[in-house]
Amino acid sequence: MPILFDNTYVRSPQNFFARQVSSRVPAPSLIRVNEELAKVLGIDAAWLASKEGVGVLAGNVVPPGADPIAQAYAGHQFGHFVPQLGDGRAILLGEVVGRDRRRRDLQLKGAGRTPYSRGGDGKAALGPVLREYVVSEAMAALGVPTTRALAAVSTGETVWRETALPGAVFVRVAASHMRVGTFQYFASRDDRDALGHLVDMAITRHYPEAAAAKNPTLALLKGVIAAQAELMAAWLGVGFIHGVLNTDNVAISGETIDYGPCAFMDTFHPQCVFSSIDRHARYAWGNQPVICQWNLTRLAETLLPLLAGSPEEAKGLAETALGTFTEKFETSYLAKFRAKFGMRDARDGEKNEDDGGGAFIKVTLGKLAEQDVDFTLFFRQLTRVASGGDAEAILALFNERSEGQTWLAGWREVVGVRSEAVEIMEAANPVLVPRNHRVEEAIQAGVRGDFAPFHRLVDALAQPYTERTEFSDLEAAPLEHERVTQTFCGT
Ligand code: AMP
Ligand code: MG
Repeated sequence: MPILFDNTYVRSPQNFFARQVSSRVPAPSLIRVNEELAKVLGIDAAWLASKEGVGVLAGNVVPPGADPIAQAYAGHQFGHFVPQLGDGRAILLGEVVGRDRRRRDLQLKGAGRTPYSRGGDGKAALGPVLREYVVSEAMAALGVPTTRALAAVSTGETVWRETALPGAVFVRVAASHMRVGTFQYFASRDDRDALGHLVDMAITRHYPEAAAAKNPTLALLKGVIAAQAELMAAWLGVGFIHGVLNTDNVAISGETIDYGPCAFMDTFHPQCVFSSIDRHARYAWGNQPVICQWNLTRLAETLLPLLAGSPEEAKGLAETALGTFTEKFETSYLAKFRAKFGMRDARDGEKNEDDGGGAFIKVTLGKLAEQDVDFTLFFRQLTRVASGGDAEAILALFNERSEGQTWLAGWREVVGVRSEAVEIMEAANPVLVPRNHRVEEAIQAGVRGDFAPFHRLVDALAQPYTERTEFSDLEAAPLEHERVTQTFCGT
């Protein structure tokens, strides 16, 4: 059998999902298949690329063993609760246990209308499909927990957004699609049985050690909090801005999910935002940890009836668990940025680093914002300086060269000259990130039928920490006229 499905979510109570077969599309054509990921999943990539395989990827053929469903969920969108969301343009084909013994969802995004589509057409435009492919695969290569891209297929259909656009399907692989919003869906309906079932599923699938805890529900909550704290530190460390950090886009697994108007920062600023719909900068780069904790508080609320017999006790347990988020995030964030600056391990208690380097990092980031310094290039050039290169390139990133010189002298004093710092910095500071203008360029070419820039970008970003001269043009910050300041969901 080409895909060996082993479906568990469909064994949930009926109100968890709706059975839904994808819509047929007129002319499916493969854009790209992820051969390495296919291998991990135990799926023959050559078959996936065949006419039969592409028919499955496009949603035209339901493969044997698949049991296609749309999942129900709710969510807070920009702070406002919507009790009914759900997969409106995505269909879960089924689950596959990979060669690494991990269970993963196989989902078709843009596969047509479902009972949860509300006013939408259930389709995806090519642009957002290419964006999710490029960025999610780049995140994986950068070492950030994320859903993956198994394939992108064009459908030969026209989808209508503000204009006519080519249609596509994105084939997503995720540890699961359980979200904070899935818990909210049942909590808002006061369906305790469903919540209990969801808790059990989340534990079995993502936090098996919680099953043996005295209070498994509390252990699950703590597990999600720890995973999300790690994830936020990872995002900040690579300059990633999700753009729609609503509770329906927060995965229980701790993976980054739902790449809509996401982007990587060029010029550093903590309030940096790209998403056209994020008018109040709710989901700016530096706000993400706070928003994440807010989202986790919504998760904790759904679990209150299951946490303890008395509401007071449940509330106390939830508050204590939520209170650990900040420390967990801070610890992980500091470790990430210390590595980026080539600082010693926090335990050394070296002079100027008594606070774990927190003050130095904060002051530096303030300086980068004030001096309009490119985030990725700054750490890249700093790594070069640490390995004995001259300082010209890093100084050129500052508006005022003298400010750069003063900062660099301060950094030398804090970090000292240590050969082992270089290796740590190289592993913490990517050479390449999917810069917004490059992603946009690949999308524009793709819309014209030229996928070469898209393929090149995906190939380059597969090894983001390695300097390869053939991709050096992709390192550069956008020129003024290349700068892309806004991104769109495109849904
Ligand atoms: P998102 O903001 O992309 O996380 O999506 C929020 C909700 O809108 C989810 O329930 C989606 O399934 C739904 N949605 C987004 N785009 C479409 C579409 N083109 N057709 C139907 N539903 C959609
Ligand atoms: Mg979503």
